[in-house]
Amino acid sequence: MRKITVAVDGPSGSGKSSVSKETARRLGAAYLDTGAMYRAVTWHALDAGTDLSDAEAVAAAVKAADLFISTDPDVERITIHGTDVTEAIREPFVSEAVSAVATNLAARAELVARQRAIIAAHERIVAEGRDITTVVAPDADARILLTASEEARLRRRGLQLGGTQSDAELQAQVLVRDAKDSTVVDFHVAADGVATVDSSEMDFEQTVTAVLEAIKA
Ligand code: C5P
Repeated sequence: MRKITVAVDGPSGSGKSSVSKETARRLGAAYLDTGAMYRAVTWHALDAGTDLSDAEAVAAAVKAADLFISTDPDVERITIHGTDVTEAIREPFVSEAVSAVATNLAARAELVARQRAIIAAHERIVAEGRDITTVVAPDADARILLTASEEARLRRRGLQLGGTQSDAELQAQVLVRDAKDSTVVDFHVAADGVATVDSSEMDFEQTVTAVLEAIKA
């Protein structure tokens, strides 16, 4: 089997997690959700009462984190210091706090190193996030920026959350978080050599097909 690393970046609500996971299944590859790692360390910092505005404390907590993440696209599981946080990390309080950790450069350096090690340990892997095509795996065999219009992203995230959110809550989940995240990583414009797949007008199957095509190209 040919070794292959696929890097996928994109903003919230672009569909990158579900599309990357399905792409991994079709390639017989592992799957790495790097956002889940940022979420898990954020959950733990909040749980431990760490002051998220204390950059040194946050960086120390991330360096000491005993983190496990499943790379099986059919098994969603992440634990931190032995606690299964697979579901807890999707709670709105984590989404709202995560940028405080993601904008901490020492915390990012630690997670990037761990992500590179996970990628190196797999023959085939699809890794997704915000800085995979540019920082974590700039030498990946295929690099894709998955984008979608603001309207499509808000609609998808609303459906994902069960349609119970107000417009303001959805905007906080998608646009405000993206604006905060963009201060440290640019995931709105494709870097040199990165293929853009705009899924605004595509359904799920069409998007997966477009990503697989981009990988072959
Ligand atoms: O992908 P997801 O929305 O679950 O990511 C959660 C958060 O993790 C993002 O809002 C961002 O702050 C951070 N993140 C990051 N770099 C990555 C992946 C995620 O900064 N590669």
